[in-house]
Amino acid sequence: MKQVYKNNIPVLAAIFLITGAAVYLLLFWRSAAFRPPVQGDAGWEVRQEEETDRRNSVPILLYHNIDGKGPFSLDLEILRSHFALLKDADIRVIGLPEFVDRLGTSGSLGGRTVAISFDDGFLSMYTKLLPLSREFNYPITLFVYTDNVYSRAEKSITWQRLRELDAGGIAVESHSISHADLLRLYDRNGPESRKKLFDEIYLSKRIIELHLNRKIRYFAFPYGRYNLALVQMCRHAGYERVFSTDYGSNVITRNNYCLRRRHIKRDYSSGLIEKIVH
Ligand SMILES: [Zn+2]
Repeated sequence: MKQVYKNNIPVLAAIFLITGAAVYLLLFWRSAAFRPPVQGDAGWEVRQEEETDRRNSVPILLYHNIDGKGPFSLDLEILRSHFALLKDADIRVIGLPEFVDRLGTSGSLGGRTVAISFDDGFLSMYTKLLPLSREFNYPITLFVYTDNVYSRAEKSITWQRLRELDAGGIAVESHSISHADLLRLYDRNGPESRKKLFDEIYLSKRIIELHLNRKIRYFAFPYGRYNLALVQMCRHAGYERVFSTDYGSNVITRNNYCLRRRHIKRDYSSGLIEKIVH
């Protein structure tokens, strides 16, 4: 029997190769990459149009601090000028929950919209952003990491202040526990790093929920660092959407789970801001 098998090795190898090639061709012939472009089939053009049509795409602006120190911190007056620019250009500021609810629907938003988010949770959110957001009546989302929140501190954000922000139109969401680089934790893949990773994603959600007494829906990756496995972890943890710092807008007709945000830095000119939101 063994001898028969040995003698037939070349035949078996040939059958294996031919079957493999057939399966490969069958699969790729069906895929778009292999299909010759058909005149009038404007699939990719439609997609491109979707992305460039501002009524369908929503940039999510990402800010950090408002104390004018460091590349990610703006002066209050600069931030006010950004907010005023949106108002003057008739660009509607949409809250993240409303935006997320509209994802995957076919209807356009009717006009140009942007969403606004802040990361980390500095004291300036309470002292400066809250009054400014009320002045413009803009819904904003603030992603906090829980190690940055104190129970009682003069110069920091506290749980009490976060509750006031949350009730005042600045919705608080999760940005992990310690602001660790989750991708690095994931790559380490030891029992300790796995436990920490679990805490950063799952436990941060529970902690904020306990303090705010409501469901936390979103997670923003610290440093914008993530991979597919981390996205899946967030999904299992019960987050409805996750937010990166990947460049670009979000197309409303696509129900993406991982959404892009546009970092706004201190040295951006008003011309550049206009370009991003117009
Ligand atoms: Zn951050």
